Amino acid sequence: MRTLVIDHPLVAHKLTVLRDENTDTPTFRRLADELVTLLAYEATRDVRVEPTSITTPVAPTTGIRLAHPRPLVVPIMRAGLGMLDGMLRLLPTAEVGFLGMVRNEDTLAATTYATRLPDDLAARQCFALDPMLATGGTLVAAIRLLLERGAVDVTAICLLASPEGLAFMDAALDKAPVTVVTAAVDERLNDRGYIVPGLGDAGDRLYGTAG
Ligand code: URA
Repeated sequence: MRTLVIDHPLVAHKLTVLRDENTDTPTFRRLADELVTLLAYEATRDVRVEPTSITTPVAPTTGIRLAHPRPLVVPIMRAGLGMLDGMLRLLPTAEVGFLGMVRNEDTLAATTYATRLPDDLAARQCFALDPMLATGGTLVAAIRLLLERGAVDVTAICLLASPEGLAFMDAALDKAPVTVVTAAVDERLNDRGYIVPGLGDAGDRLYGTAG
C-alpha cells in the first residue's frame, strides 16, 4: 500500500481551520469541499488516459482523454458524502457508487448497511472517499469489496489519517493495489477510536448530530 501525505501550504491552512472547534458547519462544509479538490488533484495523478485526435482552430493534433471505463468514485456514507462534490469538480465524468458503512462505537467494528455499486468493476479505477482514516476497519472493508468486484486499483482519499489506521490497512491489504492520499497523519487514536488531535466527528461537523 502506498501513502501520499500532501505537503502544501493551502492544504495545511484549510485543514487547520477544519480542526478548529470554533469553525461552524457551513464553513466546515466549504473547506472540506475545497480540501478534497486539492487532494483529488494528487490522487488522480495515475488516472488512466488514452490518446485522442482533435483539431484546434489552427491545426490537427493529438491529446489525451480519460480512458474507458470511467473511474468510479465511491463516497462512504455518511461523512464521505461531504467529499463528493469536491471530487467531482475534478472528475466530472466519473461514475458514482455508494457504500453505507457504520462503525459500532463500542467495538469499533464496521458494518455495511447499503451498497449501490456496479456488480462488475473489471478494469475500473476506484476512488473511495472517507474523511477520517481512524482504525482503518471501514476502509479495509470497503476496499476489499471493491477489489472483490474486480477494481484494478483503489485510491482512498481521506482528510486525516492515524498511524494505527495506516498500519492496519497496510497489514490487512498486503500487496493490494491501494493508495491512501491524505492531508495529514496525526499523532494517534484515543481510546474511543478518535483521531488525536483530529477534528472530531466529521459526520457531525458536516451534517450536525441528526444521526
Ligand atoms: N470518525 C470521525 O469522524 N472522527 C474520528 O476522529 C474518528 C472516526
